[in-house]
Amino acid sequence: MNLPDQLTPVPGADGLFLWAPDGAGRWGYANCLWIVSGSEAAVVDTPYDGRLTEAMIAAARPRLGDRTVRTVVNTHANGDHTFGNHLFPGAEIVATRAASDHLHHEPTPQQMHALVQESPPDTPLGRYLREHFGVFDFTSARLTEPTLTFSGRYAFTVGDKEVELHEVGPAHHAGDLVARVGDVVCTGDVFFHGDHPPHWAGPLQNIIEACELVLGFNPRVVIPGHGPRTDRAGLEEHLVYLRTVQREIRLRFEAGMTAEKAMEDLTQRDFYPHLGMPERLMIVTALEYSHLRGDSSPPGVLDLAGRAAAWVYQ
Ligand SMILES: [Zn+2]
Repeated sequence: MNLPDQLTPVPGADGLFLWAPDGAGRWGYANCLWIVSGSEAAVVDTPYDGRLTEAMIAAARPRLGDRTVRTVVNTHANGDHTFGNHLFPGAEIVATRAASDHLHHEPTPQQMHALVQESPPDTPLGRYLREHFGVFDFTSARLTEPTLTFSGRYAFTVGDKEVELHEVGPAHHAGDLVARVGDVVCTGDVFFHGDHPPHWAGPLQNIIEACELVLGFNPRVVIPGHGPRTDRAGLEEHLVYLRTVQREIRLRFEAGMTAEKAMEDLTQRDFYPHLGMPERLMIVTALEYSHLRGDSSPPGVLDLAGRAAAWVYQ
C-alpha cells in the first residue's frame, strides 16, 4: 500500500502533525502523532516494522529540521504501536507500568515473524495471519522497552506544548494510555474509527469509560488508534456503538448462547454493516463472554485471533 510521504498538520493545532496510513479494513497500520515545538520533538506511537518507521521518519524530516526526537510515547504494548521504537535512539520511551509489564506476554517481532511464516497455511489462523500480517517485515522490527514508566497520570513538555498522559487501561489492552495536547486527544486503541475494533483486555465497560474520559476533556480533535481523525461527535458515535455491542452481547450471554452462536445471531442482523473487519466482533464477543463468566484471566491473543479466523473461513 502507499504510505504517507509527508506528515499532515492537525488543523488548528500549531506544531502537531499526523502520520496517518490508510488503515481501513487492515490490521497493523496505526496513526502516529508528532509534536514539534521550539527545539524539541516527540512522537506518540511507532509503526509495526522498520520499513514503515523509516518511511514515517523520512516523511517527518521537513517538519523536524535538525531536531531529534527526545520522547517516544507508546499508548499500549501491541507491536503496531511499539515495534519502531528502536529507530529513535536516545529517546526516552514512555509507557504505563502495566503496559511495560505486559510487554513480556506480547509476541516479539521474531515470534510474529515465526507465527506468520510457520503457522500451517491450511488452518484458519495460519491463513488469516498470512493474509493480514504477511505484508509486514518483522525481521526489521525490534523490541525496545520503555525507559520511563508511570501509573495514573504523567505530563511532560515539548517546547511550549504540555503533553498529558492518562492511564485508562486495562481496556483495549493492559495499561492503555490516552495522550492530550491542548484540545487534541490521541486515544490509542480504545477507539478504532471506521472498522469494528478488536480488544484484548476488556471488559467493554472499561473501554467505554476510557472513551468517556476522553469526551470529558471536551476535545476538538480526536485521533483514534486506527482510522481517520475525527472530532467529539465521531467519538460519541463510537460510544453508542460500544454500548450497543455491550448490551447485545450480554443479552445473548444471558439467553445461554455460546459466543459463536451470539456472533452468528448478531451478524445475521446486519449489525453495523458499514464497519469493516466484522470478524473482530468475534474477538470482542469471546473476550466479553470470558468477563461475563467471571474467568480469572481473559483468553490469549492467539486463541481470540483463531476464533476470528474460524469465523471468516467457516
Ligand atoms: Zn493498534
